[in-house]
Amino acid sequence: MNKAHDTLKHYFGYDTFRPLQEEIISHIVAGEDALVIMPTGGGKSLCFQLPALLLDGLTIVISPLIALMKDQVDSLRANGIPAAYINSSQDEIEKQEVRTKIKNKEIKLLYLAPESMRAIQSLRETTTISLIAVDEAHCISSWGHDFRPAYTRLQVLKKLYPDVPLVWLTATADKATRQDILVQLGIPEARVFLSSFDRPNLSLTVRPGQKRLEQILSIISTKPDESGIIYCLSRGSTEKLADKLSSAGISAQAYHAGMPHDRREQVQNDFLMDNVQVICATIAFGMGIDKSNVRYVIHYNLPKNIEWYYQEIGRAGRDGLESDTILFYSYADVMQLTKFAQDSGNADVQIAKLERMKQYAESLTCRRKILLHYFGDATDQNCGNCDVCKHPPEMFDGTVIAQKALSAVYKLWQQESMRTTIDVLRWSRNAYIVSRGYESVSTHGIWSDIPQIERQRYIIQLLNLGYLEIAFHHRDALILTESARGVLFGGDTVSLAKPHQDHISQASKKWMTSVEKKIAEKNKRLQWPTLLEQLKSLRKSLSMSENVPWHTLLSDATLKHIEQVQPTTLGMLETIQWLWDTKIDKYGHKILKVVTSYHVLTGRWQVKKWVSIWSTFMQTYDLLQQGKTPEQIAKTRDLALGTIYTHIWRLHASGKDVDITSYISDAKVDLIASALTSVDHQGKLKPLYEHMWWEVSYEELRLGMQVVGR
Ligand code: ADP
Ligand code: MG
Repeated sequence: MNKAHDTLKHYFGYDTFRPLQEEIISHIVAGEDALVIMPTGGGKSLCFQLPALLLDGLTIVISPLIALMKDQVDSLRANGIPAAYINSSQDEIEKQEVRTKIKNKEIKLLYLAPESMRAIQSLRETTTISLIAVDEAHCISSWGHDFRPAYTRLQVLKKLYPDVPLVWLTATADKATRQDILVQLGIPEARVFLSSFDRPNLSLTVRPGQKRLEQILSIISTKPDESGIIYCLSRGSTEKLADKLSSAGISAQAYHAGMPHDRREQVQNDFLMDNVQVICATIAFGMGIDKSNVRYVIHYNLPKNIEWYYQEIGRAGRDGLESDTILFYSYADVMQLTKFAQDSGNADVQIAKLERMKQYAESLTCRRKILLHYFGDATDQNCGNCDVCKHPPEMFDGTVIAQKALSAVYKLWQQESMRTTIDVLRWSRNAYIVSRGYESVSTHGIWSDIPQIERQRYIIQLLNLGYLEIAFHHRDALILTESARGVLFGGDTVSLAKPHQDHISQASKKWMTSVEKKIAEKNKRLQWPTLLEQLKSLRKSLSMSENVPWHTLLSDATLKHIEQVQPTTLGMLETIQWLWDTKIDKYGHKILKVVTSYHVLTGRWQVKKWVSIWSTFMQTYDLLQQGKTPEQIAKTRDLALGTIYTHIWRLHASGKDVDITSYISDAKVDLIASALTSVDHQGKLKPLYEHMWWEVSYEELRLGMQVVGR
């Protein structure tokens, strides 16, 4: 092992091995098979790269991503280690060059994709293969979270090459997956190296999903120059979030698999080089990224299992320094993910994994214990660095609260969702409640003394404690369990945890207001582009259709002058600088059209019409001020209820003092907020409307969008 130490120092520049590395390396060099399970950033690569240098022949590394191969090969070469890859990104000549080098024993490590098994066979004819390493081993198991069918071809490796040692490596494999991997590989007795999954420098926090943007801004405000990653469920939401953060003056970029390859590479590079502070990404981001100073990882949505979650938070604090991880937890996400899981290929496994994720998010005991236990790395110590350890939940006798909720479920015939149940409990009189006659149910309003932020938390606790269940196949209705009977009729008591309240500090609230202003300004600008912006976009489309560079068409100075003069006739155009006759002939009418439509847009020609529209809004406004409900106003004014709702959101949008939150339930607002993050609706309401199974009307949708600030 002296040689191993020298090689470590000479090629990799490290003085000591990390835990388990040395043992694994000597095991492999002795020709034995192994399964290595080590968390992200633990140093798995070294476990096969170093043996490759100690052993005589060629080491083959199977890796699932072509992009990763290139990174690894580049960094090996930078360390003076002869490495290469063969994959579909190369042409035949390049591949042949690599083969020749292998034949001449000029290559020590060769990276291949799992699809390239045949290449191994032909290489054997010209060279000795001394080791085969398979990275991201969990991809072989359908029990794992990232099954890749091509990996199943690797099952034959041991049969074809019984004399070549095999090492399989992964960062994430729960107990079932581990067992499955070994059996599939035909090496059930291979040694398993399980390194500790504990990353004590990562703080673990779970927060309720309300007002996520505000919470995120508040978090970032405490880490102004640090790097962070925010994981979102959908591509659309990565873009929207990046946009909002940018409006708030934060350097942020989106990253997802739908972006062109070049763009993704650019964003990733900018992040690595610290040119971009925050990446808003889908799970597509991060595999194999070696950035040591990521100071925080935020989950905007609930991940679908603990494996993904742990991989993703593992990207924070790889340098061992204190780093934060925050998970936003909303029940809308749970519902959404449950539906995804139900529709997936192996629904049972996915649902069971989601269930564990949920238990983690809702835990009232040390969160790290749950994580470590999940990976078979059990401990009885509380970590002291998770939100539960830092603020242990305050338990109280919640029997009465529970009885009220359970009897509401009972009175609603166990037919209604969590949203509606909460609406009834909190004394809502929204359209649905009224239409079902629920205002006359005796439990209507019996939770109105409980703050909104706590209501859902209590229901979730009742679900966790096993008093309630969700009938996913029956419109997500809440139903009572056998133990609920004991609480309602048998004198059983229920102990509940008091939810924590304020996640946004006073200091950052102030900062937030200025941020909100900035966002509002930007939105305003987006709705009403300036004349100059419109002229520029005309120029752009002209330059594209004529295929000439824009600056030869119309200069910036000319456009600015047009903006100043705002010409509405051809004669006025002649007074514009640098606008020759030929250009007026060619573009004059188009320019005039832009100017006049700008006038229409900004209301110059429409003042009269607008006044009459406005006055109908104001009539509604006056009635609202008198305390009339939308239903009453519709009746008095003989207008449709939908029209009155439209007035309400218009009034609010124009800055009138209208409390729109009282016309829509918080639960619906949550539902809308989550739909907005998960549906790529491209500014249209219909996809959102349908996504929510028609539970929210268009009018409510518009109101809700105002409430969440879209
Ligand atoms: P994994 O594949 O397990 O996620 P990597 O192999 O990419 O992790 O290693 C993570 C980081 O740790 C890399 O920057 C690597 O150079 C570094 N590293 C690996 N082994 C050691 C060691 N013995 N000492 C110091 N740094 C190490
Ligand atoms: Mg790795």
